[in-house]
Amino acid sequence: MVHTNKYFNIYKKRFWAGILLVQFFLFYILSKSENAIEFFNQLFELKKNVHQIIFSKIQFSVGDAFYILIVIFLLLIIVNLFKKKRRPKSAFALIIFCNIFYLIYQIFWGMLYFQKSLSDKLSKEDATINEAKKLSFKYLKLCIADRENVDENKQGIFVIKDLKSVKESILKEQKKLPSQFSTKKSTLINDFKPSLFRNVMSSTGILGYYNPFTAEAQFNEDLPATFLPFTLAHESSHQLGFARENEANFIGYLTGKNSGNKALKYSTDLFVLKSLLAFVADSDPAFIKFMISQFSPKMKADRQNDLDFVKKHNGFLNVVFDVSNNLFLKSNQQKGSITYSYFTVMLIKYERSAGQK
Ligand SMILES: [Zn+2]
Repeated sequence: MVHTNKYFNIYKKRFWAGILLVQFFLFYILSKSENAIEFFNQLFELKKNVHQIIFSKIQFSVGDAFYILIVIFLLLIIVNLFKKKRRPKSAFALIIFCNIFYLIYQIFWGMLYFQKSLSDKLSKEDATINEAKKLSFKYLKLCIADRENVDENKQGIFVIKDLKSVKESILKEQKKLPSQFSTKKSTLINDFKPSLFRNVMSSTGILGYYNPFTAEAQFNEDLPATFLPFTLAHESSHQLGFARENEANFIGYLTGKNSGNKALKYSTDLFVLKSLLAFVADSDPAFIKFMISQFSPKMKADRQNDLDFVKKHNGFLNVVFDVSNNLFLKSNQQKGSITYSYFTVMLIKYERSAGQK
């Protein structure tokens, strides 16, 4: 039998609470150092292969199961914190948990947010509303053409018959990313997982997410086909090592725009079109209305299907699904929140430089 000293326990708790503070401080300092960030970058390059191989072998989302266990664990801790007898032990367990969770998160993912911004590689000259309008004509044309090449169901709505080939195309296209924007190695590992929380995702508007602990790319299987391929490209960009949301969008765009996979191309061009329209929305709502009226009948059917999906899942509008969210609000004649989309700015600047070549 082990007899523990009460004071020793308090000392231990304080020690580990101190370690947690030291961690906060240390990672803060490291985030300011270019060398440290480069180190974590390289570490990610080394580990992602192994990390993805391990979890891609399992069919379901291990990350989601892991999150469920964490929630149960935390609930138990909270309950025990209210029980006098169990309080010291649970408090200690909580501190240890925070230490481990934070450490793993920072090493595997957190430090990647401090990488040099991709926008540094683009022109400093601001993107204008007029440029966005011009480009939206280009992408409308592309979308109309793309839409003719994809599968549809009996109701005339775009469907994806072969999701596997969409995933394969994303991985293949990642190999061809311009070196100017990405020198990250693609793994070619199919590690996309339908989330176990699809209902929650549908009603909160979350399309997908990357799990830093398992390196899996989760997506909501129930999403309308218009969203699905681009969401996969976005999540896969996180797997590649792009942490910031807008940069994952930009890499997703570079991945999907030239894809031979018709579904991926349509979904990507449509995402771009929606982003451009959302960019213009606040300054010229009439323009959005006009552009939507120019959609082909097939695109209109898809759009109606998207709107029905949003309507069915009430909460969909409430979350930070910035781009289409804004567009959906606009289409319903409500005042959309002004969303400054960094992705759209990058896209406009990229298109500007691509046009000059
Ligand atoms: Zn993301």
